[in-house]
Amino acid sequence: MIPYPIRNQFRHTIGQLDMPPRLLLGPGPSNAHPRVLQALGMRQVGHLDPAFIKLMNEVQDLLRYAWQTENKLTIPVSGTGSAAMEATLANLVEPGDVVLVGVNGFFGLRLVDMAGRYGADMRQIEKPWGEVFELDELKTAVAQHRPTILALVHAETSTGACQPLDGVGDLCREHDCLLLVDTVTSLGGVPLLLDEWQVDAAYSGSQKCLSCPPGISPFTLGPRAVEKLSRRKTKVANWYLDMSLVGQYWGSERTYHHTAPINMNYALREALRLVAEEGLAARWQRHRETAVYFWQGLAELGLDCHVAEPYRLPSLTTVRVPDGVDPKAVTGRLLSEYNIEIANGLGQLAGKVWRVGLMGFNSRKENAALLLAALREVLA
Ligand SMILES: *Cc1c(COP(=O)(O)O)cnc(C)c1O
Repeated sequence: MIPYPIRNQFRHTIGQLDMPPRLLLGPGPSNAHPRVLQALGMRQVGHLDPAFIKLMNEVQDLLRYAWQTENKLTIPVSGTGSAAMEATLANLVEPGDVVLVGVNGFFGLRLVDMAGRYGADMRQIEKPWGEVFELDELKTAVAQHRPTILALVHAETSTGACQPLDGVGDLCREHDCLLLVDTVTSLGGVPLLLDEWQVDAAYSGSQKCLSCPPGISPFTLGPRAVEKLSRRKTKVANWYLDMSLVGQYWGSERTYHHTAPINMNYALREALRLVAEEGLAARWQRHRETAVYFWQGLAELGLDCHVAEPYRLPSLTTVRVPDGVDPKAVTGRLLSEYNIEIANGLGQLAGKVWRVGLMGFNSRKENAALLLAALREVLA
């Protein structure tokens, strides 16, 4: 044998992978549905195989159902929700475009950061975390800033608030502005009608209410957004997420751009098949019923929700930390003693709330009951 100078300091002998059986009731990831995990393990085909192309079409149609849109450009982005978020901005923002973001939580701030990196002339309107924008406030801001894009977060996972979108689509059309919406924590769990609400661009994630592992993320552009993309004077400043290129692979040309994450597409197909099987109305209703059950249980424990009931998300609840309780000690004990993951607050709500997700497959009464029982013991 040739004496290669091989170093062995990282050649550890490690055990077979064995992760603890966590119940993931935080802001994501949520537990994947067993059928989704099973689909993930299906044998591979190539990314241009006719069998895969058939699957791509199925995924696109099931996504259109889940989002209630007829948008042609409706595809999964290779990457997590933030990649799909970045894809909407990278494709729609040209340097100098005025982008108005409604900031009432952590993900609004992320939109501001990302859009700024693509050269947007950034404008923000703000609300305390846990509150939502009223249509009149949006009207005033749009009239004042005359943005090219208005970006809002439908389901703010950092606060638990659901931004009403009634009338916002009309407002944007009156001002010839595109409506971009983050639907990461609403798709598949909270009423969401993209075309009805005249949303021009949206993105989501797989590991929230779709109960699929993270790594692949829904993305869609409506006709007005596609037109803006096709009229660009500058190239999309992000090669990987350039939809004028990626769209050719997902469209009829099937030109290679990057290798699609084959097995993640299997998983997403199964997750979306579960949505279609259950039906959107039943699924939204289930999320609502589980959340109401959880909120009632919190009240019985003397715990308060941070968000006013009309705007409270069924998929994510922010629970106020009672005076004198160390929030991190509680999340730590829930994890180590009960295998339940919930999360602490972020930003303005750090130290003030816990964040509890009852999303997708996890949105079931027995999970809410288990968390309530564990909380009762830990807080005693
Ligand atoms: C989780 C989340 C994201 C980001 O998704 P990642 O998968 O973490 O990249 C964006 N927006 C909202 C509202 C989210 O909850």
